[in-house]
Amino acid sequence: MQSILLTPLTSIEISGADPARLAELRRTGVDHGGNPMEPFVDAGGGWPLRCCLADSRPGDALAIVAWAPFEWRGPYAEVGPIVIHAEPCGGFASDGVPPQFLKRRQLVRPYGDDRRIAYDHVVIVDPDGSLPEVLADVLSRDGIEVALVRNVLAGCYSFTARRRSEPSSSTSPASGAENPDHEAQEPDVSARRAGPAA
Ligand SMILES: [Zn+2]
Repeated sequence: MQSILLTPLTSIEISGADPARLAELRRTGVDHGGNPMEPFVDAGGGWPLRCCLADSRPGDALAIVAWAPFEWRGPYAEVGPIVIHAEPCGGFASDGVPPQFLKRRQLVRPYGDDRRIAYDHVVIVDPDGSLPEVLADVLSRDGIEVALVRNVLAGCYSFTARRRSEPSSSTSPASGAENPDHEAQEPDVSARRAGPAA
C-alpha cells in the first residue's frame, strides 16, 4: 500500500488486491467464488494485473480469479473477475495512481461507512490525467470511507483508494521527486490485447 500527496488536496492511499488474502487464495488454489484457480502462461502480455497493478508481460504465469475487493461482507460486497500473477509477485510497489490508469477511462465508485455504494458520489473519469485529483476530492467528502476504481464498460475492479489515516503536511508538487508516477508518460497499453478487466 503506497500513498501520494496531492496539495492542497487530500492525501490518498492506493492498493490493489490485498496481499494477505491473495496469498491465501494462491495457497488454497480456490478463489472467492469457490472456483479452482487455473493458471495459464500469458502469450502476448498486456493483461491488467490487480496483484501488482501492472500490466503483464509475455511468459508470465497468470490466473483469472473471482475476487471480492472488500474488507467486509454484505449485499454490496460484490465478487468479480480479476487477473493476477499465479505466483507471488511482490505486489504493488509504486507511488500513487499507476500511470496506465491515467490514460484509461475509469469509474470511481465510492462506498460509505454504512458499507453501501454512495450513489450520489459515483463519477466517471476521462483519461485526462485527473484521476488522482478526482479520487482525492471524492474521498474528502463526508461519510465516504473508500472508493473502488473500476473499468467503465465491464465494471471490473481496478484498484482501491482510501484517505490516508494520518494528517499530511503541505508539499509542493514541483518538488515531487517522491511521486514520479504522477507525471510519468508510459506507453498506453490499451491498444494491446487486454483482459476482461482492462
Ligand atoms: Zn502481480
